[in-house]
Amino acid sequence: MPSFMVNTKMTEQYDLHCHSLASDGSLTPTELVIRAKEMGVTALALTDHDTINGQQEARVAAGNHAINFIPGIEISTTWENKCFHIVGLNIDPEHKGLCQGIKGLQTLRKERAKKIAFKLEKKSIPGAYEAVIKAAKGGMVTRAHFSSYMLAQNYVSTQQEAFDRYLGQGKSAFVATVWADLAEAIDWINQAGGVAVVAHPLRYKMTASWMRRFLSFFKAAGGQGIEVVTGRSNADEIRRAMIYAKQYDLAASIGSDFHTPDNKWVELGRLAPLPANITPVWELF
Ligand code: AMP
Ligand code: MN
Ligand code: MN
Ligand code: MN
Repeated sequence: MPSFMVNTKMTEQYDLHCHSLASDGSLTPTELVIRAKEMGVTALALTDHDTINGQQEARVAAGNHAINFIPGIEISTTWENKCFHIVGLNIDPEHKGLCQGIKGLQTLRKERAKKIAFKLEKKSIPGAYEAVIKAAKGGMVTRAHFSSYMLAQNYVSTQQEAFDRYLGQGKSAFVATVWADLAEAIDWINQAGGVAVVAHPLRYKMTASWMRRFLSFFKAAGGQGIEVVTGRSNADEIRRAMIYAKQYDLAASIGSDFHTPDNKWVELGRLAPLPANITPVWELF
């Protein structure tokens, strides 16, 4: 290729982690794709929590707006009694094993939402169940819906406060949940032709030795990637995630974890560049 020609592959702007109304995002898949385009994203994966319901609409919208669409999901898993989010990228969203697997999580989410609402009611916060079901518009209900409701009703003054006081682990409205078995979830993703990626690895508040055990297990179970750059990563966090990627020979992913335009700290495509000296996850697609 003559040097004056632009190599579009080299200038691809990836965002491989975001949410739509199919889970706890506030935009429809179409609105999300249009916003991604406006923000300069050229390759987008929609990764809703435990559902593929937004995939078809997003794929059509991406086709209409010349965006390279990568089907994805963010699966809630449990390993050694701890919750880990595993992003599946470049999956076949129709794959039977995957669809069967996430069905259980969808039932679990419904039951858990009722239990959280019941606990909130006991803390004098009524009406949460009806409100979150309405807000989710048929999508997966997550704790983000509860924190939004509590903020809107002035029970808390920030969403973070809702987690700190009620929804976080060990707090009064926390419902311990056994999500998908980690190894099984990795298997669903692999069976569906995808790449399993550890989501936001620095957010689990684990000691270094726990993290080492977790990553060894993840790798041995068939996991292939780890998020190195997320929407709020600073240089030090990128450096730390890079060390994990290299130590465990995992490909590096990049994704904003965008949920809503209301959060001015996280935007589609607003991401630090992936360091050059690492295998990017899209080389595995
Ligand atoms: P769940 O999967 O139902 O436990 O809910 C987790 C979701 O809640 C995450 O995907 C975020 O969207 C949101 N979330 C988690 N922690 C916080 C926090 N501290 N502040 C605001 N939102 C949060
Ligand atoms: Mn979320
Ligand atoms: Mn997550
Ligand atoms: Mn996410």
